[in-house]
Amino acid sequence: MKPFNFFERFFRFTVSRKDWFLKGYTFGVLKQLKISLMKKYYVNKNAQNNGDHEVHTGDCKYLPDTSNRKYLGEFSSCKEAVKEAKKDYSQSNGCKTCSNECHTS
Ligand SMILES: [Zn+2]
Repeated sequence: MKPFNFFERFFRFTVSRKDWFLKGYTFGVLKQLKISLMKKYYVNKNAQNNGDHEVHTGDCKYLPDTSNRKYLGEFSSCKEAVKEAKKDYSQSNGCKTCSNECHTS
């Protein structure tokens, strides 16, 4: 084996390993990012005065008590959570405080 070939092989091996490592790292970062964007959503079992069942994130200060809320799941946006809530309560609406972009009335 010529020295040149040896170094070239070694270089290619290192690059391919590094590439693999970077891909794994990038994937891990994206996964973490996705997890941090995912929030737990709950719907209020009791309707508001206007008949709306409010959808809240797990960290909202207006989150109802355990007995008055239904866990919807983890979603990256309140739109998906409201969609899920509508399976149970057709008149579901995002909370003005925690899910303002899904708050319509
Ligand atoms: Zn809320």
